[in-house]
Amino acid sequence: MNVIKHFVNGQLFDGNSKRKGKVFNPATGDQSSEVNFATTTDVNIAVDAAKKAFVSWSQKTPLFRARILFKFKELIEKNSDELTKLIVSEHGKVYEDARGSLTRGLEVVEFACGIPQLLKGEFTENVGTNVDSWSTRQPLGICAGITPFNFPAMVPMWMFPISIACGNTFILKPSEKDPSCSMRLAELFMEAGLPKGVFNVVNGDKEAVDAIINNRDISAVSFVGSTPIAKYIYENCAKNEKRVQALGGAKNHCVVMPDADLDQAVNGLMGAAYGSAGERCMAQSVAVAVGKIADPLVKNLSKKVEALKVGPGLDKKSEMGPLVTQAHLEKVKGYVDIGVKEGAKLVVDGRNLKLQGYEKGFYMGGCLFDQVTKSMRIYKEEIFGPVLSVVRAKNYEEALKLVNDHEFGNGVSIFTRDGDTGRSFASNVQIGMVGINIPIPVPMAFHSFGGWKRSLFGDQHMHGPEGIRFYTKLKTITSRWPSGIKSDPEFIMPTMK
Ligand code: NAD
Repeated sequence: MNVIKHFVNGQLFDGNSKRKGKVFNPATGDQSSEVNFATTTDVNIAVDAAKKAFVSWSQKTPLFRARILFKFKELIEKNSDELTKLIVSEHGKVYEDARGSLTRGLEVVEFACGIPQLLKGEFTENVGTNVDSWSTRQPLGICAGITPFNFPAMVPMWMFPISIACGNTFILKPSEKDPSCSMRLAELFMEAGLPKGVFNVVNGDKEAVDAIINNRDISAVSFVGSTPIAKYIYENCAKNEKRVQALGGAKNHCVVMPDADLDQAVNGLMGAAYGSAGERCMAQSVAVAVGKIADPLVKNLSKKVEALKVGPGLDKKSEMGPLVTQAHLEKVKGYVDIGVKEGAKLVVDGRNLKLQGYEKGFYMGGCLFDQVTKSMRIYKEEIFGPVLSVVRAKNYEEALKLVNDHEFGNGVSIFTRDGDTGRSFASNVQIGMVGINIPIPVPMAFHSFGGWKRSLFGDQHMHGPEGIRFYTKLKTITSRWPSGIKSDPEFIMPTMK
C-alpha cells in the first residue's frame, strides 16, 4: 500500500501518529493509498521548521524570491501531465478539467512572479516641511492554509505561492481525501531552489487543523471548505489572535431571462452544473427560469442531461467523472431522495447509473429537478453533486430577490440580451462574483476570488491584490533628517506645516 507522509523542512516526514486515512481512486472504487494523520506534535515540528526558515527567507530580496517562482512555474509546466493524473486519480474529475484547474493554479504562480512590482509601497515627499513619508508591506511570519478536496492543486495554489512570494513561510494542510498533488508540488518547489522549511505540508484531519489554530507562532490562516468548518476556523483563529480568511460553501444561481440566447444558457448551465460532477464551489446548482423561458429551458436541459457521458476521468470520451468517495456519493443521492419526497419534479434521475467494468466506482448520472421551491432543503442546502434544480420565477424582481435572500453569496450569473437588466443585476445582486452571459465567473489570478454572506468569513478575498494585502502588514514611516532644523520640545498634536 502506498503511504503518503508529510513534507517538512525540505523532506518527507513520517510523523508520530498511528492514525491514518484512506485515499481512493474514485473511478474504480479501490483504495490507492493510506495517508498519515499528523498529531499536534507533528504540526509543531513543521511550525518550528517554518519559524527557522522565516529568519532568512523574509530577508531575501523580492527579486530572489521571484526567480525561484519562475523556476517553479517552469517545473509545474514540465510536470503538468503527472500532476493532472494525480488530481484525476484521487479526485476523479476528467483529465482536461483537472488540467484546466492546474492551469488556474499556475496562473497564481505567474502572478506571484511579479512580486517585486507588487510589493512596491507608496511615497510622499514633503508631507511636512522637510519631512517624507512612505509605506511598505512586510511579511506576517508563518502562514497556514487548510484546503478542501475539490481542487487539490488550484485552491492550495491560491494561497502558498503568494504568501511565500511576500516573504512568509507556509504550512499547508490539504484535504485528506486527495493529498498527493500537494506533496508533489512541495517537492517541485524545492527542486526550483526554495530553501528548506519555507513550504511544508502536513496531512491529517481535525487534530492537525486544531493544532494549526492553537499554535501561537502561526500568524495567519487561509481556509477553503464548507461553511460550518469555515465559521469554526474563523471564530477560533480570531480567538487566538490570527488573521483569517475562511471561504465556505455555496449555492450558485443562474438567472435565465426570457430574452436570453437559449442555446448559450443551456450549454453554459450544462458545464456549470455537471462539470467536475458538480463538486465546484462555483458550480451552478440552481437555474432560475424567468417567465416563458422555463418550459423550453427544462426541455433542452433534460435532453442534454440524459445524454451526459459519465465515465472514468482518464477516458477521453468522459464528460463527467465519479464523485470523490462512496460516502459523498451516498450523501448526494440522499439529497435527490429528499427532493422527490419534498415534491420537486425529478425530470432526469441519475441515481441508478452503473458502469460496466467500473461497478465499484463512485458514479451517478446527472439529475435535473423542476418545480423546486425556496422552502425545500434541496434549494436551501449545498448538495455538491451533479444535481441541478430549476426554480420558476415570474419576473426579474422575483429572481433577484431569490438570489439575494439565499444564505450563500459565492457566485451568480444572468443570461440576458438586455443591457439594462445585466447592469442592474450586476449592481444590485448581493453576491461576490457575478457573470453576465458567463456561466462560471471565476476571477483570474490577477483579480481576487471570494464570495459574500456565509460563503466567506473575513474581509480579504484570495489571490490577486487582496492576496498581497492578506499576506502582508502595512508599515508607514515618517522621517526627517536633522541638518539645519531647529527642534524644540513639542507638546501639542503635531500637524504638518
Ligand atoms: P470540508 O469543510 O469538509 O473540509 C475542508 C478542510 O477542513 C479539509 O482540509 C478538512 O480536513 C478540514 N476539516 C474537515 N472537518 C473538520 C473539522 N471538524 N474540524 C477542523 N477541520 C476540518 O470541505 P470539503 O468537503 O473538503 O470541500 C467541499 C466544500 O468546500 C464545499 O462546501 C465547497 O463549497 C467548499 N469550497 C468552497 C470554495 C470557495 O471558494 N468558497 C472553494 C472550494 C470548495
